[in-house]
Amino acid sequence: MVKSQKTKKVAADAVAFLEVLSAAGVILTAENEVIDQSEQAKQMGLVAYGKLINSELQELVNQARAERTSKSTEVYFAPNLRAAKQFLFARATMLSEELVILMVEDRTEAKRLEDVRHDFVENISHELKTPISAISLLSEALQIAVEDPAAVKKFAVDLNKESKRLAGLVNRIIELSRIQAGDLSGEIRKVDLGNLIAEAVDSNLFLADRRNVKLSFDVVPEVYVKGDSELLTMAIKNLIENAILYSEANSQVGVGLKVESGMAEITVTDNGIGIPVDQQERIFERFYRVDPSRSRETGGTGLGLAIVKHAANNHGGEVAVFSRVGLGSTFTLRLPLLTERDQND
Ligand code: ADP
Repeated sequence: MVKSQKTKKVAADAVAFLEVLSAAGVILTAENEVIDQSEQAKQMGLVAYGKLINSELQELVNQARAERTSKSTEVYFAPNLRAAKQFLFARATMLSEELVILMVEDRTEAKRLEDVRHDFVENISHELKTPISAISLLSEALQIAVEDPAAVKKFAVDLNKESKRLAGLVNRIIELSRIQAGDLSGEIRKVDLGNLIAEAVDSNLFLADRRNVKLSFDVVPEVYVKGDSELLTMAIKNLIENAILYSEANSQVGVGLKVESGMAEITVTDNGIGIPVDQQERIFERFYRVDPSRSRETGGTGLGLAIVKHAANNHGGEVAVFSRVGLGSTFTLRLPLLTERDQND
């Protein structure tokens, strides 16, 4: 349908304005034909054959026109079946007697962050409830058992264990929220990975001894990275601690350091229980455990590997796992080597 020159001009001016704002917008006629759209809208693939392809967006436009007011909605949208779904915020408003403008904002990332935050809070509340209710029950039991010294002793030991677990969990949550913000708030400097591994091994010797696991390390000297040594030590400690905790007595845990393809490569290998292939990606999620009861029994929080992953990301590195059930696991932490430029910074 041929539109008047004036209508076309109104649409073109509106689109020019949207382009200045780098905004996605589509202008529709009273017959719901798309008369013009901004470059950003084209890239989003909102229109095909001169029509909006999403029925919810079309409905929004119809409502704005019928009620002669501004209407907004949130919709999941994908331009085709193969494309990833985007989360869009859309607003439709009358632009003139004839035209409606539909403005669309991609809020996928904001929505993802909001969902992650929501999940995190929900998980934390759930995780905190368990030790808190155990502490509450044990303290009640203590009151009742005052006349029975053996029972008092047992409840006191359990109480101590639960309160330590609670403290450990709270610490991990604090550590994780710090590094999740992408924050390397510790001092960023040249880090000698050999020293750092020695320290992480050292702090796990007691645990290894208690569980009868032989802990050894084999590192090449003078491998340096740029980073937050506290955070990296925490990550390596977590990997070693897991290797010990998910191994049977009389087994071995080995920690290695070498340079491979221009990256520092730290490996932690155990011949413990292993991880099923289909769960190997999920173990890096917060609070994900392959066997929740075993994790709880060993004092696990489900946060150790999430911390490792974030620490690796924050340093421009990555963490990977190779594991077979019943044979054992190797976790590999790769970090970019210190460059000459870093040295001069
Ligand atoms: P947790 O505190 O439960 O150990 P992590 O985030 O450190 O939490 O690890 C997540 C899950 O990954 C563990 O609960 C366990 O199921 C599995 N896992 C981690 N490391 C190992 C390992 N070396 N061997 C076998 N399973 C492991």
